[in-house]
Amino acid sequence: MKNENLSVVVGAGLAGSAAARVLAESGIRVVVIEKLSHVAGHCHDMKNEEGITVHTYGPHIFHTNNREVWQFVNRFADFNYYQHRVLSYADGRMIPFPINRDTIAEVFGLTLSTNEVRTFLSEEVARSQFSNPPRNFRDAVVSQVGERLYELFFKNYTIKQWERDPELLSPEIARRIPVRENRDSRYFTDKYQGIPSEGYTRMIERMLDHPNIEVRLSTDYFDIVEELGASMTVYTGPLDRYFGYEYGELEYRSLELEFRTFDQEFYQPVATVNYPNDYDWTRITEFKHFLGEMSKRTTVCFEYPKSSGEPYYIVMSDDNLEKREKYMKNVAELEATGKVLFIGRLAEYKYYNMDQVIAESLSKTQQWLQAK
Ligand code: FAD
Repeated sequence: MKNENLSVVVGAGLAGSAAARVLAESGIRVVVIEKLSHVAGHCHDMKNEEGITVHTYGPHIFHTNNREVWQFVNRFADFNYYQHRVLSYADGRMIPFPINRDTIAEVFGLTLSTNEVRTFLSEEVARSQFSNPPRNFRDAVVSQVGERLYELFFKNYTIKQWERDPELLSPEIARRIPVRENRDSRYFTDKYQGIPSEGYTRMIERMLDHPNIEVRLSTDYFDIVEELGASMTVYTGPLDRYFGYEYGELEYRSLELEFRTFDQEFYQPVATVNYPNDYDWTRITEFKHFLGEMSKRTTVCFEYPKSSGEPYYIVMSDDNLEKREKYMKNVAELEATGKVLFIGRLAEYKYYNMDQVIAESLSKTQQWLQAK
């Protein structure tokens, strides 16, 4: 028998936890089912033996322009107002990235004003060969920065990341590469940025800490779906799995993360260094920069892209996007019944930043509550 005041949330990542909180605060009883032995999904982090907070699934920096989302997360965490800086190791030098005035000074030995940077980039683009409108990833980048900067920073990084020729990848991936004419070398320019001072896991534990929420860890939803008897389900697991792979499996890129601790105070000058052209890893992240944690030793993470394993990045090929479209038609039909909501990076097969996942989760559950 269905319990009218019971909702099930599948997944205790950000999408599921934000939805659970909104439902719980409106008086609905919520059971959160999580197949892992911990909450927080891909945002999971933990302190290692050096007392340094490491991010289990790769580095996560919170950034948003959405005030509602920022206020929401600040209810559950204090933030260290960290602003992310990235360097790119190219031609034997650490060069500021994303491309800005200092990048151009370092690469070409030119000291330009803001207006001159604009002219310089237009000239770089004008002397380059590409299709307009862009037909692929290469065209999309070259149309913004020209061939020389594309070759130095983007071409080989993309080949490592996707194991595909950039000319076979969708221009969508490079729709908005950040390029600055000024000297702002921050990786993100959002109004609100930071890292939860006690970590993402603690923030999500607090989100789920409500008398109306029960969390069941190490439980696969599909093993117990029949016995739950909930009137409404928020699903944040894989889209293809929900529909029994009816239209085939959706493809993901994965990562091998190698965590290493070195007997030195710092490994690199900023949190993340990209390696577009050298070595097999794409980037190295040093965690202690995020929270300013003090230790005589330091822990870093080398990222090696791979094709199978934990699903990290959706693959924007025509084939996958066609499958997604078919699955999303099923989703629309089910959501129209008011009995299921599909939210998050896996359930919508969509690349989402953390703030976008929360925004989507808040808006979908609030709309559902209003319609109820
Ligand atoms: P998830 O966190 O994956 O949560 C889904 C949960 O559902 C998981 O815990 C899973 O175990 C559970 N689940 C699945 N199937 C079942 C089942 N059958 N039964 C029970 N439970 C199930 N975003 C940023 O804003 N800033 C960043 O710097 C950033 N860095 C990133 C770095 C990397 C390497 C990656 C891959 C992503 C990054 N992101 C970043 C994106 C961010 O990780 C996601 O937006 C966010 O974690 C998605 O949350 P989610 O709840 O949709 O998915």
